[in-house]
Amino acid sequence: MRPRTRVTSNMTDVPLLGSIAPWTQLSLWFPSPYLVEKEPLSTPEGGMYQEWGYVSLASDMRPSLMSNGSVYTRTPATPIPASVDENLMETMGRPLSGSCQFFSMYWTVASSPAVVAMWGTLTLPTPSSPEKPLDLLVVHLSQEILNDALVQVPGHILHPARHRAALVYAIMTQQDAHAVPLLILLVLEACAPSLGAQLPGRDGTKTPHVAAHDQHFPWDRMRLPQTVVPLHYNLTIHPNLNTLHFTGVVHIELEVVEDTTTIILHSSELLISNVLLLVPGGPPRPLRFLEHPASEQLALLSDQVLTKGGRYEVQLEFAANLSDSFHGFYKSSYRANSGEIRYVASTQFEATSARAAFPCFDEPAFKANFTIQIIREARHIAISNMPKISTVELAGGLLKDCFDTSVRMSTYLVAFIVSDFLSVSQTTQHGVKISVYASPEKIHQTTYALDAAVKLLDFYDDFFAIPYPLPKQDLVAIPDFQSGAMENWGLTTYREAGLLFQPKSSASDKLGITMVIAHELAHQWFGNLVTMEWWNDLWLNEGFAKFMEFVSVDVAYPELQVNDFFLDKCFNAMEVDSLSSSHPVSTPVETPTQIREMFDDVSYSKGACILNMLRDFLTPDAFKTGIIRYLRRYSYQNTVNSHLWQSLTNVCQSDEFEVGGVKQRDFCLEGKLQPGGSKWYTDDGLDIRAIMDTWTLQEGFPLVTVEVKGREVRLSQERYLKTDDPSLTEGFLWQIPLTYITSRSNAIQRFLLKTKTDVLYLDEEVEWLKFNVNMSGYYMVHYQQPGWSSLIRLLQSNHEALGSNDRGNLINNVFQLVSVGKVELDMALELSLYLSREMEILPVTQGLGELVPLYKLMEKRDMETLENQMKGYIVELLQTIINKQQWTDAGSVSERVLRSYLLLFACVRNHPPCVETASRLFNSWKDLDGNMSLPSDVSLAVFTIGAQTPEGWDFLYEKYGRSPDTSVKSRIKTALSISPLKDKLQLLLEESLRGDVLKTQDLPHVLISVSKNRHGYKLAWNFLRANWHALIKKFGEGSSSIARMVNGVTDQYSTVHMLKEVQEFFGSLTKETGSELRCIQQTYETIEENIRWVDKHLPLLQDWLDKHTSSGPKTQNTRHEDL
Ligand SMILES: [Zn+2]
Repeated sequence: MRPRTRVTSNMTDVPLLGSIAPWTQLSLWFPSPYLVEKEPLSTPEGGMYQEWGYVSLASDMRPSLMSNGSVYTRTPATPIPASVDENLMETMGRPLSGSCQFFSMYWTVASSPAVVAMWGTLTLPTPSSPEKPLDLLVVHLSQEILNDALVQVPGHILHPARHRAALVYAIMTQQDAHAVPLLILLVLEACAPSLGAQLPGRDGTKTPHVAAHDQHFPWDRMRLPQTVVPLHYNLTIHPNLNTLHFTGVVHIELEVVEDTTTIILHSSELLISNVLLLVPGGPPRPLRFLEHPASEQLALLSDQVLTKGGRYEVQLEFAANLSDSFHGFYKSSYRANSGEIRYVASTQFEATSARAAFPCFDEPAFKANFTIQIIREARHIAISNMPKISTVELAGGLLKDCFDTSVRMSTYLVAFIVSDFLSVSQTTQHGVKISVYASPEKIHQTTYALDAAVKLLDFYDDFFAIPYPLPKQDLVAIPDFQSGAMENWGLTTYREAGLLFQPKSSASDKLGITMVIAHELAHQWFGNLVTMEWWNDLWLNEGFAKFMEFVSVDVAYPELQVNDFFLDKCFNAMEVDSLSSSHPVSTPVETPTQIREMFDDVSYSKGACILNMLRDFLTPDAFKTGIIRYLRRYSYQNTVNSHLWQSLTNVCQSDEFEVGGVKQRDFCLEGKLQPGGSKWYTDDGLDIRAIMDTWTLQEGFPLVTVEVKGREVRLSQERYLKTDDPSLTEGFLWQIPLTYITSRSNAIQRFLLKTKTDVLYLDEEVEWLKFNVNMSGYYMVHYQQPGWSSLIRLLQSNHEALGSNDRGNLINNVFQLVSVGKVELDMALELSLYLSREMEILPVTQGLGELVPLYKLMEKRDMETLENQMKGYIVELLQTIINKQQWTDAGSVSERVLRSYLLLFACVRNHPPCVETASRLFNSWKDLDGNMSLPSDVSLAVFTIGAQTPEGWDFLYEKYGRSPDTSVKSRIKTALSISPLKDKLQLLLEESLRGDVLKTQDLPHVLISVSKNRHGYKLAWNFLRANWHALIKKFGEGSSSIARMVNGVTDQYSTVHMLKEVQEFFGSLTKETGSELRCIQQTYETIEENIRWVDKHLPLLQDWLDKHTSSGPKTQNTRHEDL
């Protein structure tokens, strides 16, 4: 642990920087004199922000300089001497040339709590002129500069509303021309909330934008105007992996749509300079510009009108630090075998971070062509969306790689990486060169990904019948990566665990890697070729990509049995979609935070599930024909929902005779001849848009109640909502493509329920009916008695009469109906009894998914006896299948994934045979210093048993630090978090945030895993609260990482006290620190629901367990103490 010093202001109670560590590296922009030459300043305040450039300090700051500096003490109240301006101008008048842009330096806290002193060495690019010795430079930086993240203190936010950095003084005493010791005092004062720029509120009220220095910013909306559109970007960028900053210049060719004198585009945290308008045949004209940091916009102001239809080019220079987050142009690092830390500069632009790498029109509908040049050192390589066409040597030994011009695409898909990675390549049958890149140490783990990418890209090329338009596709394993992967066109990026595969990888790793590659490659069509118009329809990208994962892998890798894993997506989506805080698939969004919140289970999983429902309804061939038509019609364009529905309507009237291998004529004739099949093609009145609007434009999903009276089946629908306010379920109506089978026939029957209630008639009376066959539909079903009882009897007598998806679906529905009071808990538990004979992964994991949370809720209420009884019941219920598990890697992928899951469960629940074997294996593995080969699928259980003692935990932690194998590491990491040792859990959390041994990218996983541990849930909650601001800064407000942490840590809380604690913390946040996040509402609702559930059902559960656990209530002697 590094020493920490607490700093508080003596002016207010507000802590200025929270706790800060001396010798933290801090970056500060510094004004550059040489640009000022072009347009002298009238006052330091007036032009500084716009016109100042920057100089550089050398990167080798030495703490020893501390003793050389004399502290220039000054209180904020002291007025700036009149001579400052003169000094400033005098100093500024002397040009400094060179290409450096900013400095980094060490800093510490001066004795005054409101002053931060920083020092380092200023290296001037050229010697200053001897006749004018540089002895003092006083710099007065305005608040805007500091507020706009120009001061970046790792882990701290200088917040505009709470802190005002009033003055920065730099005192330089020249010793020689090149290296000048320098001291800066950053004087901070607490201030009242800023009255400056305000964004339009969610209520629609607007206040005028105010740009820096009180100049009026000429645009007051978050969305850009349509007056000019970009056609082509020529971008040159130079990331410096020594100083960890980058500089660049972009030329943007524009077409003017309406006469205008302003160009509004995006820029975030970039230092902009040298903005020019390039007019053909004329000299370049400098453009004035204004920035509006709150909306991340830049206004370029022209003195002359840019006329409609005209084409212009603007040039902007820019610079910034490589980001310390996971988005924009950010730095990643890895430790080479030699122990040396190596840096990688990589991009992650989706959704709104291209603007943090270069100024651009950063909305998906502003598609343009991109020509990119990257400057690098000879020891590095650069890659981008397109292939490299040439390399030019620059002065000073640097190299410039020039890449081919891209196809028309959105800014969020642009990507470039500078690294020392190696690659392996292969060519697809369609002639596309596929390469997989990884750090030199891990390049041998790329073979599986390369094969998978070749196979899957060929699959999509054939399936969509639209050739992949680029000559190459690179897949890159990035050491630090927030999400799973990113679909940048031609250059997909992945976290290492999502791409690297070794013999030691487990079955679920293989499945995961295949799926993630399938997802990103599907995006090359859905998302890249055809893009949603705006982020409100993100599901058109993500729902499709998620859906196509299953379609493609099912065909290309049938042995992976992906369909065993699809329903899980729908169950997850239904969980958030059953709360009143859910949102429609297509939801209006405006701010970057709101846009980030769209990357959730609703866009991905619900999107995929409703597409699956539509495909089942239309038939797979008709669906395929429709989506190919959609992709062809809208290639290189942007779409809204209705474009998709139109493309899927009247497929048989399509002009295309053969599409994607489907012969239209045969297929449509065939359809007409089969009256029992899907009826869409015979029914001209079928309005796909009307059906699908009910699924995409309203939130939630329906609960269909089925009541059978003889041959008559009465149907009704209502919204399934976990609430104690029934009025919230009113006003919802869906068009539901119902399917069912009966005890008499396995042939799937179909019925489109469009109204609140309806009736259908069976040919004959039946013993049972099962609706939502294979759970192809996104809805829940409640069977009025005796419906449930007949289904339970069926499961108990002959469960294989129903498919495994149907069994999993019934387990899910019956337990979920308990929550809304439609079914009593004992009926759900009664149904679960059949699980003692269940062998298939989906129903078993779904059963555990419903039963395990019950004791998790009790854990939080200190009801140990009942909790142990419940745990005992579940182990007993699944004993047959647990005892059947072999400690090997044999079997199909589903069997292997299930084995890993069951053995972990049994060992954690202290099931003696499991613990014995796992302990024996762990000891042997440890005795051989981890060099014994363990079957991958059982190693998680083995490591988890090992992590229960301090010695075992330390050994595993040490192995984690040294293991090169991503897959083994990820299992060790999970095992470490399941330990009962609280001090170790705390260490694990702290190390994850520190990001040295454990990467910070893994913090969300570690935190959630610790929170599921009965010994760790309080630590996790305290950790989340204590580090909230740092987490928001690192992962991004509104990101799915933040939402997962909030929900994951608190979603099993079940007491009023806990609810209050959660409300108190989130209630104390401001809008800027996340108070309006949707995940907070979700967690409130979930905890309220947990409290209701436990209060209502506990007595019944107790009675039921007393009757059904073999040892009975009094003789309970096995303690299911968690390990
Ligand atoms: Zn995606």
